[in-house]
This record gives sequence, structure tokens and C-alpha cells, in this order.
Amino acid sequence: MSERKALIIGAGPAGLTAAFELLKRTDIRPIVLEKSEEIGGISRTVRYKENRMDIGGHRFFSKSDRVMNWWMEVMPVEAQADGNFQITYQRQSRDVAAAKTEGPDPRVEDRVMLVRNRKSRIYFLRQFFDYPIQLSADTLKRLGVARTIRIGLSYMQSAAHQIKPEKSLETFFINRFGKELYRTFFKSYTEKVWGVPCDQISAEWGAQRVKGLSITRALGHFLKKKLGRTAGDISQKSTETSLIERFLYPKYGPGQLWEYVAEDVKAKGGTVTKGWKVHKLFTDGFRITAAEAVNPETGDVQRLEADYFFSTMPIKELMRCLDAPVPASVLEVSDGLQYRDFITVGVLLSKLAIKEDSETGGKLLRDNWIYVQEPDVEVGRMQVFNNWSPYLVGNPDHVWIGLEYFCYETDEIWRKPDAEMIDFATREMEKIGIIHRADVLDACVIRVPKTYPAYFGMYERFEEVKSYISRFENLFLVGRNGMHKYNNQDHSMLTAMTAVDNIIEGRVDKANLWSLNTEMEYHESKDGK
Ligand SMILES: Cc1cc2nc3c(=O)[nH]c(=O)nc-3n(C[C@H](O)[C@H](O)[C@H](O)COP(=O)(O)OP(=O)(O)OC[C@H]3O[C@@H](n4cnc5c(N)ncnc54)[C@H](O)[C@@H]3O)c2cc1C
Repeated sequence: MSERKALIIGAGPAGLTAAFELLKRTDIRPIVLEKSEEIGGISRTVRYKENRMDIGGHRFFSKSDRVMNWWMEVMPVEAQADGNFQITYQRQSRDVAAAKTEGPDPRVEDRVMLVRNRKSRIYFLRQFFDYPIQLSADTLKRLGVARTIRIGLSYMQSAAHQIKPEKSLETFFINRFGKELYRTFFKSYTEKVWGVPCDQISAEWGAQRVKGLSITRALGHFLKKKLGRTAGDISQKSTETSLIERFLYPKYGPGQLWEYVAEDVKAKGGTVTKGWKVHKLFTDGFRITAAEAVNPETGDVQRLEADYFFSTMPIKELMRCLDAPVPASVLEVSDGLQYRDFITVGVLLSKLAIKEDSETGGKLLRDNWIYVQEPDVEVGRMQVFNNWSPYLVGNPDHVWIGLEYFCYETDEIWRKPDAEMIDFATREMEKIGIIHRADVLDACVIRVPKTYPAYFGMYERFEEVKSYISRFENLFLVGRNGMHKYNNQDHSMLTAMTAVDNIIEGRVDKANLWSLNTEMEYHESKDGK
């Protein structure tokens, strides 16, 4: 029998997971084509001189055992000095701290997952507020009496009268937090992210991202914490995702893990080729027969035939690659899909203007990231890369931050030359009192298109694209832009794993791929919480 092949578009988490799973569990040989010169997609590590950046900051945690085990097999968890480390999820406490004594030591080894504490706060009214918001006396003091009373009253009002149907993200937030808390802590940041008012964003966004988080749960978590019940628990299944307090993190950022996976794929007989952009898919009825890719540097073109095709490229682009007679109404929807784009300005500093005493005597803020809710600046979030992994920073005495802007590729800010963008970001951070220009040592600008598939505009009719494209038996849409789902790495990976399951089982319908949700226990009974 001739060898079976799978052509995989994109060397991000979904594409590489598909390749790895095919090699592990089938005799199908994966050929991964990546249009850029980098491995890891949005989850790559960007290198800038002796420093490294993580686009958006990638926490590695999942409620799925399958994903957690997969990550830990690729990169073992660091030894825990206190010898008391457990990852607890799916009601199982696992002593991954065979790591207690045997786990690698990140000071001497590179292939190692760190265990990091999560801390993120909201910066608003030139003050820090815990995130998730805690209804502590301190929070209320910072908000002031008048606002606190308004928050309490509007929360009670929402609790008594839920807005139904919950159509928009605005109603989603108001139903859970009340109007005033929504206006204070969610509206400005969310609108910075999406560039449209919350009442024009589908409530599905909230369901996907904010999940079951509510004031009652936040309060419950706070009380539990006070009682010490969540200590030592990393991926707490019973805990809402937004409340997770410890996570795994590759020593050199997320791309390090994906670079290892790409190496493993090659070592096992697969191919991962950078610099090839798939721009055509040839069809025969509802089967894909071949793909054509172009090398943007040289203009060279190659045609590759395969038995299976996995796509992680944006659906909007995929639909335009098909040589099939796609109905005009379907193309109208896919052409109308929207994305939010993303700029990170990396700024290397001798110090921050804002200092805080930490337990270890340092003066650096302990946050991994900070939501900038201040409406008088455009910056949406600030990463403190030192706190993701100290190994991301070349000189440990320096502070390495990422200032994040959400925009459209058509916006003026996207086209600003690097020097202007750096100047703009520096001015904004000075204005809100976080840095002094004089402390800036170096800076760079990274632009990432299509980071957020949007749940508005033509998305309302997305079902039409989904049902059309799902008819192609040997084409598997997986991952974030691949499925136009605002998801994390774990979901992207699970879609790839499930596509491979389907090939093995001979299953041709795609329903189980579209219904995958990492909030549901994967391959578990409904009551398996
Ligand atoms: C700001 C931000 C923060 C995030 N934080 C987290 C987090 O904390 N934890 C977490 O788990 N996840 C997080 N994520 C999500 C995570 O980045 C994605 O879920 C994941 O990278 C999606 O993987 P993917 O393979 O589907 O797509 P991508 O990462 O987008 O990879 C797709 C790849 O396909 C390539 N490609 C596209 N078109 C073509 C073509 N025509 N031909 C060839 N190659 C092509 C691209 O160059 C890219 O390399 C975050 C994302 C963002 C934007």
C-alpha cells in the first residue's frame, strides 16, 4: 500500500499537535507547511536581542488531562524545592513532583516547565485593583463611598431582574456583575480589545471567556483562599478559569515548547517546512486532492497531494483558497468575518516608576500582566515578562515589559513606524505613572495580525460557512483562526487530537470537533466535575 499523507497548514499549536498525534498513533505521514519563518503561531516566543517576548502571555493550564499530560511529556516540570508540589485536576492530585527531587533544575537545564504564580491586577483611577475583583474593604475604599453604593445597588438590581434574552456581551456582564461594576471594570477594557461597544458583541464571547465567573463565585473563592483550601492546587478543575492561581510555563516562553514539538515531529519522520504559504486547495467534489503553496521570498510554487488536510489558517482566507464552486452566500459570510489585530511594544527599562515591596525584597511589581482600564490611554494591557519567567530577560537587573494595543490592520496605529509607536507607548505609560522615559534602555514593536477572531458582524451567520466546509470529508478545520473560535492552546490542541481520533475511527462528520469545549470535561461523563 502506498504511504498515506496529511498536509497540515500552519505550525502553531493546533497544526503541530495534529502532526505529533498522527505520527504517534497512525501510519499517516504529516507534512506541515508554515508561511512564516517561526514556529508556534501566536504561541511563539519572539526573540529580541538577549530578551524574549511572549505575545499576550501564555498560561499553560487546562482542565483537560489529555492536554496537561501532553505538555508535561514534552517538557518535564521543574523540581520543587519545598518537595510539596502537586498538580490537582480532575479530582486527582498528581505527584508530578517526582519533580520533588528528580525534576529538572531550570538553573542548569533548558527543557523544563516552570511553575509560576499567577498575579494580575486592574490599573484604574491610577490605582491597582485585584483581578478577579475581590469585594474586600480595600477595593471598596479605593472605589470611594458613592461608587461603592452604586455598585451594591446595581448588583442587587441585576440579581433581582436578569435581562433576558441575554443577547449581547453588555447584558451578559450586567446580569452577572450589575451595571455599575460592569461600567467600572469591564466596559472600557473590553471595548479597547474589540473596538466596538459591548452591546454589539455576542454574549457567546462572554460564555467562551468569562465563563461562570460571578460575584458570588469570586467571593466564594476569596473565602476558600482565606481558609487555605486551594493551596497547592494548580489547575483546579472546580475553579473558574479566570481564578486559576498557578500555571505551568516553559522556561523560555511558549514557543520553546512548540519548537521542541516541531523537532520531535521531524525526528519521527514528519516534515515541518517554514516559508511556504498555502494559497490554493484543489478539490474533487467534496474532497480536497492537493494544495499549492508559494514561497513569498522567492515566488517559487509547489503542489502537494495528500489524503488528509488540516487547516489552521484563518477560515476567511481558506474559503478563498478553494477551487470549488462555493455558494456566493457562503463566501459573503466568510469574507465578512472580522479579526482584531495586536501590537506589542517591548520596552526594556532599568526600573519601573511604580515600585512595590515583595516578599523577596525586590521592588518589581509581582503581576504577570496588568489590565489597563484607564480610559485616557489606548494601551490595553501591560505584561511584566520578568514575572512570567526570569529567563525571558537577558539581564536580571532590567525590567522587560510588553505594552499591548488592540486594533484593526486598517487603523492608523497599525501603520505607525516603529519609532513613533515606541514614542507613543512611552508617553502613555509616563502619563499614567508607570514608567519614566529616562529609564527606557531599548524597545521594539511586534505586530500580530488576526489574533482575535471576532464574534460580531457576519459571525451571526457563521453556521452557513461551518455547514458548507464540514462537507469536505478529508478536510479538518482545527485551532483558533482555523475554526474562528476565541480559544486557548488547550482547545486548539484538543480539536487537532479529536480530528486524528476521527481519522482513526473513520468518522467523517465534524460535529464533535465543533462542539468541543474545554469547559466540558473532555471524554468524561457529565457529572465528572
Ligand atoms: C493575547 C493573547 C493571549 C493568549 N493567552 C493564552 C494563554 O494564556 N494560554 C493559552 O493556552 N492560550 C492563550 N492564547 C491563545 C493561543 O495563542 C492560541 O489558542 C493558539 O496559538 C492557537 O493555535 P493555532 O495553531 O490554532 O493558531 P496559531 O497560533 O494562529 O497558528 C497558526 C499558524 O498557521 C500559519 N498560517 C496561517 N496561514 C497560513 C497559510 N496560508 N499557509 C501556511 N501557514 C499559515 C500562521 O503563520 C501560524 O503560524 C492567547 C492568545 C492571544 C492572542
